[in-house]
Amino acid sequence: MAYYIREMLSERPALSPRRPTINEFFLSSYTLSIYTGCELGCPYCDSWIYQERPLNERIYVPLDLPQRLAAELREVDRGDLIAITALSDPYQPAEQIYRLTRQTLQVLAEREQPCLLLTKSAMVLEDKPLLQRMNERSLAVVMTTLVTADPHLSERLEGKAPSPALRLEMLRELKRAGVPVGVAIVPIIPYVTDRHTALLSLVKACADAQVDFVVWDYLHISNEQHWIRINELLARLGNYPVSYYRDLYRDQPTVNPIYRQEIDRELLDRCDGLGLEARAPHRIYAGRLAPRNEAALLLKHGAFRDRVQGRELVALKERALADQVYAGTIDPVALRESSLYPLVREVLGL
Ligand code: SF4
Repeated sequence: MAYYIREMLSERPALSPRRPTINEFFLSSYTLSIYTGCELGCPYCDSWIYQERPLNERIYVPLDLPQRLAAELREVDRGDLIAITALSDPYQPAEQIYRLTRQTLQVLAEREQPCLLLTKSAMVLEDKPLLQRMNERSLAVVMTTLVTADPHLSERLEGKAPSPALRLEMLRELKRAGVPVGVAIVPIIPYVTDRHTALLSLVKACADAQVDFVVWDYLHISNEQHWIRINELLARLGNYPVSYYRDLYRDQPTVNPIYRQEIDRELLDRCDGLGLEARAPHRIYAGRLAPRNEAALLLKHGAFRDRVQGRELVALKERALADQVYAGTIDPVALRESSLYPLVREVLGL
């Protein structure tokens, strides 16, 4: 059991600054963290490196966060999506006591602000009617993280989280209630969860659960402290050849592009074969975000597919266009060259 430390944000902001580029995984322009610290304490989590003490030891509970957020929302465009995805699970055990996530959703609902939240906990189902209403009036998307479909490996990797099957069942129930749902296969952990068959069966489990979309990303090892944690994790799980990680990372914080491309290709092909979207489909956010956000997402999602399928130059151009559109600086000539021009033009009302 963690210690809960109640605090006031006072002058500290609730929301992150507006993102300089739209987040193509979570559709977001802003990020919001409810609690600081996460009792689930998954050993692969990035959050460990941002805490002075163990991530799951102390949970800070900002009691005035909903009020603070309500004040900050006055300056936020109603077409910008806020992602509750940052560095802690919004439905960790503290939520049972403090209900800060629920209060935060109520603030967002009142303002009809689009939001997406990422959780591993079935406690989100207690807010199902609220999420349902939010999605009817603006947009509310729920995602869960899954790194494996294997319950035994999941137990060893993230023992405090519900089993993969339970998380998928939770998404099924939300989807039945009309709430769009997705899965973040994050992180893909080399040598632990990256086996071809394991990844493909994970994607198949997502398709069987009829989730609307999946996204994926790779284990990011940003500093020495995180390397130590990952080495401890690997040592706990089995004998892993040191050279495998050395070759994959080559002293960089992320995997080498050849490895990434190979897995991206495999996963995208598998998703296409199963009729499962690899990025949030347009139908989920069409007309529910600011037009420049909607258009930027279309371009970024198109660029993802172009890159994975080998059209590197097209992908680079479309990503640059997406960033321009998001920033409101549109180059009409470059935009006309995009294969997505007819759709983007309609979205932007050009
Ligand atoms: S539940 Fe999410 S935020 Fe919490 S420790 Fe696990 S990965 Fe990190």
